[in-house]
Amino acid sequence: MQTHIASYAAQDKPRTIEIDDVRLTDELNTLATFSSIEPSSEGTAVTRVVFTPDDMRARMWLKTLATEAGLDIREDAVGNTFFRWIGSEPDLPAVATGSHMDAIPQAGMYDGTVGVLGGLEAIRALQRSGACPRRSIELVLLTSEEPTRFGIGCLGSRLLSGTLDPARADALHGAQRGSEEETLAEVRATAGFTGPLTGVRLPADHYHAWVELHIEQGPLLEREGLPLGIVTAIAAPASYRFTLEGIGGHAGALLMPDRRDALCAAAELILSIERHTLATGVIDSVATVGTCDVYPGAVNSVPSRVTLQLDIRDTDPTRRESVMQSVRRDIEALAARRQVRITETFVNADEPAHCSPHIVEVLNQVCRANGIAAKQMVSRAYHDSSFIARIAPIAMLFIPCRNGVSHRPDEYASPVDIALGVRVLASALGKLASE
Ligand SMILES: [Zn+2]
Repeated sequence: MQTHIASYAAQDKPRTIEIDDVRLTDELNTLATFSSIEPSSEGTAVTRVVFTPDDMRARMWLKTLATEAGLDIREDAVGNTFFRWIGSEPDLPAVATGSHMDAIPQAGMYDGTVGVLGGLEAIRALQRSGACPRRSIELVLLTSEEPTRFGIGCLGSRLLSGTLDPARADALHGAQRGSEEETLAEVRATAGFTGPLTGVRLPADHYHAWVELHIEQGPLLEREGLPLGIVTAIAAPASYRFTLEGIGGHAGALLMPDRRDALCAAAELILSIERHTLATGVIDSVATVGTCDVYPGAVNSVPSRVTLQLDIRDTDPTRRESVMQSVRRDIEALAARRQVRITETFVNADEPAHCSPHIVEVLNQVCRANGIAAKQMVSRAYHDSSFIARIAPIAMLFIPCRNGVSHRPDEYASPVDIALGVRVLASALGKLASE
């Protein structure tokens, strides 16, 4: 079945964009076979870690598809791959779409891949419609969105946007299959990506616009029965580590009034974080203490030391910091009252990204013109687009995924929803390329 949408791509009269959803579904299924584990009964489990033989085979296959579509191919030193449909005015900044193909162990088959293969199908659909875009339209495959191999997410887009120091990146150690001594520099060279990482960064005027299509990875669209989300902002995580040191002792002999129990203090700290995050009254503020290491970790021993890791996210970095300030005030009081030492270590913080009002409006226009009800929403997961936002105006399109499930074999997005997202993407790319 082919689906249709009126396009406002190029030229004067609207063209009809047809998405070949049968072919796209087929290609998503094929890509899922480039995986280091067998499909399981729970769904299609995919493991495709960057620069493994499966990732390299998937890259080769994608390049074949892009060549068939007549696209120009360029690869940079970290393996970001650019597939360009050259416009009638090739010197103008291009319009781009893209995402990632790497998958964490035991992941699903839609995270990232929908944006890559959907982006390719969007370009092919525009070609079939007879559109001749003024600006070039480019599909970008970004390297290592997942932190599985090198411990840092969005490696390709960080380097592309100048957010990560190239020397630091090359020195990152791989943690895959015991290959701890292998650095990114060594791994990428083995994969055939050579040359200095300093050449990866793109100038700020390189792209006219960037739109990433992705599954929502949350439950809101499905819950509200809406087929599409238009992202207006991408929240960013900050992470901290807290170490709490008290005094340990025998669980029977150390009397309650004499205790300086590090785990009891940690419990209060966790609840303080929850309380201050809720107190913002804003749904975009979220905080999670996801790990708790207790020393010595014996049932009959009073905990003397606890380490907690906090992930705190918001669309507003000032609000994120004000939650931290409130927590720090509690920490001071808590440390004095319980006689424990609490130290905070800053691990990492990324900036939230705001989508371009113009691109959001273009996406809304396409939806309105085609009777598509789209939800304006915030992305609470971060994406490559968070980093691309530093060098280009960006926006994202979300399609619903079943039960909001992602990073699991039972991750699922329906062909109908995928096709709708690709149709809107194609139409928007065409429109932006005519500007
Ligand atoms: Zn993703």
